[in-house]
Amino acid sequence: MAKSRFEYVKQYERLDRLLPETYIVIRIDGKGFHKFTKKHDFEKPNDLRCLNLMNAAARVVMSEFTDIVLAYGDSDEYSFVWSKSTELYERRESKLVSHVCSLFTSAFVFNWPKHFDIPLLSLPSFDGRAVLYPNMKVLRDYLHWRQVDCHINNLYNTTFWMLILKGGFTNTQAEEYLKGTVSAEKHEILFSKFGINYNFEPEIYKKGSIWIREPIDQEWHQQDKKFSVKQKKKMVLSILHVSLIDDDFWTSRPFLEV
Ligand code: ATP
Ligand code: ATP
Ligand code: MG
Ligand code: MG
Ligand code: MG
Repeated sequence: MAKSRFEYVKQYERLDRLLPETYIVIRIDGKGFHKFTKKHDFEKPNDLRCLNLMNAAARVVMSEFTDIVLAYGDSDEYSFVWSKSTELYERRESKLVSHVCSLFTSAFVFNWPKHFDIPLLSLPSFDGRAVLYPNMKVLRDYLHWRQVDCHINNLYNTTFWMLILKGGFTNTQAEEYLKGTVSAEKHEILFSKFGINYNFEPEIYKKGSIWIREPIDQEWHQQDKKFSVKQKKKMVLSILHVSLIDDDFWTSRPFLEV
């Protein structure tokens, strides 16, 4: 077909190929979830229905994009870690980020009724960004940072909401009470006031959720760590609520370093 005289406008598009041989992390985060959780009367500090729904939506994204090796989520956010050799959409940032965001959002909405017995009262949306990490060390530090954030927020929120729900504090009083307290003091407040040993709180709240794509047994130890499309399709998706800070998490799963 002959080129139309309007076709030159294509040149105004921006090239956005992400640097090759680097780990792409796409992090999505719910827009205004503070308000969204109020509107849908979420249980505080952790509404398990929504965490399960977030995990279900992340699973859909992992199933669709087999170059995603691992995903980490807590609260209203999820980080998707891609194989450093992925060439999907020629590594175009806008394609990758927009597909992840929109598929995650539609899976969240589609699966809502399986997790909640109230209807959706507003339309959720998620922002997304891509960040590149040049090696495993920085990538692991990134995931470490998100998991520590999950832990810190959860300890704060658990103490904050106990003071309100069981201690009769107002929001402002609870905020004042917790101002400047360190972790050990929050543990102590939970234990002495409410008989809660924070260490026994559910792991999903303290550690967040990790989806990994696991090769089937005999393929685990293959030398070059490159998996064919066919092999990737056969891998199983597993969800874990464990520390990804320990070396052990990585050394026992060499297939994550692809
Ligand atoms: P922004 O649009 O800037 O992201 P936001 O209101 O979504 O604004 P976040 O910093 O992303 O702000 O915080 C998410 C909010 O949603 C927090 O208040 C968090 O406690 C709440 N939230 C997310 N998931 C749950 C859940 N499963 N149960 C209870 N509260 C949740
Ligand atoms: P890609 O993922 O690369 O976008 P695609 O299959 O979506 O692949 P497009 O170039 O976006 O390819 O083309 C959209 C296709 O959907 C075309 O085949 C078009 O005819 C079809 N299509 C879109 N909207 C309609 C519609 N309303 N009725 C019938 N066909 C439609
Ligand atoms: Mg948010
Ligand atoms: Mg958030
Ligand atoms: Mg199309």
